[in-house]
Amino acid sequence: MIYTGGTIGMVRNAATLALESCDFENLAANIPEMKHCGADIDTVTFEHPIDSSDMTPRHWADMVHIIADNYNSYDGFVILHGTDTMAFTASALSFLLENLSKPVILTGSQLPIEAIRTDAKENLLTAIEIAAACDENGRAMVPEVCIYFHEKLIRGNRSSKISANNLAAFSSSNYPILARTGTEIEFHREYIRTPDPAKPFKANYDMDPSIIIFSLFPGIQREAVEGILSKDSVKGVIFRTFGSGNAPEREWLVDLLSDAVRNGKTIVNITQCATGKVQMEKYRTGRQLLEAGIVSGHDSTVEAALTKLMYLMGQGLSQEEIRRQMNISIAGEITI
Ligand code: ASP
Repeated sequence: MIYTGGTIGMVRNAATLALESCDFENLAANIPEMKHCGADIDTVTFEHPIDSSDMTPRHWADMVHIIADNYNSYDGFVILHGTDTMAFTASALSFLLENLSKPVILTGSQLPIEAIRTDAKENLLTAIEIAAACDENGRAMVPEVCIYFHEKLIRGNRSSKISANNLAAFSSSNYPILARTGTEIEFHREYIRTPDPAKPFKANYDMDPSIIIFSLFPGIQREAVEGILSKDSVKGVIFRTFGSGNAPEREWLVDLLSDAVRNGKTIVNITQCATGKVQMEKYRTGRQLLEAGIVSGHDSTVEAALTKLMYLMGQGLSQEEIRRQMNISIAGEITI
């Protein structure tokens, strides 16, 4: 188990009443059931547990190190993480942990462990059970990066945080859930990835964060778009468009976008809609983007598109190769 911080382990500051990160011992003391859950657990904790708003690619590399260094000694891994950026971390790890054949289950909670109605216990204990679950041949039931939260197991790179208050905080809007819990854990095996035994596990560490996410809105100004696209420090753009991947028909917009692509930037088209996919060929307002050299993000979440682009750019690939890989599913993140 890797403890990174988050509400699950937080305590209230008596003076400010704000929730603040606390060490793993306090969390463990409040879940004595962990000792009797049937799994043999060792824990690694971040030296300074964090609110996940402080999560960075550096922390993702730290998690990959911990998993890679211990890969052969454990059946599975549970990561305790704040909910705010859990979907980003789950997406990032799904790319960094290549050819994974063991479960990596992220969880956390909306209420701290010390709260009377806390959701921490159920989330944590079930995540452990899922990380240890095997099929009839003794193989891991869920050999992929997932989020377990409030009765649902979701593929990590299909997840998004959808509520700041509800205990059901995550959704998987474009892919079925992998398991549902009630009195039993019901695995939906047809949707769970099967690892290729011929491909060995490989840990990757490098991410290039020179990316910006920008959203269209009616009335968007040329100067604002130019300000973003002309920066040398921006090498990739996650472009959040309307509907099935459409943008206003403005010559200046198409010119700025195609110049940016010609200058080596990768621009990925993601819809602002919560469900559905980008189809740039469908409308003239979308086709102009296709002609400007923009890459389709298909039915990707923003979190998966962003971390996939960071990962591909981090591998030092050519713009052509990045475009090619954005158009294939490398960890189940898009439906082709
Ligand atoms: N701010 C917290 C975090 O993301 C929220 C949570 O864990 O639910 O670390």
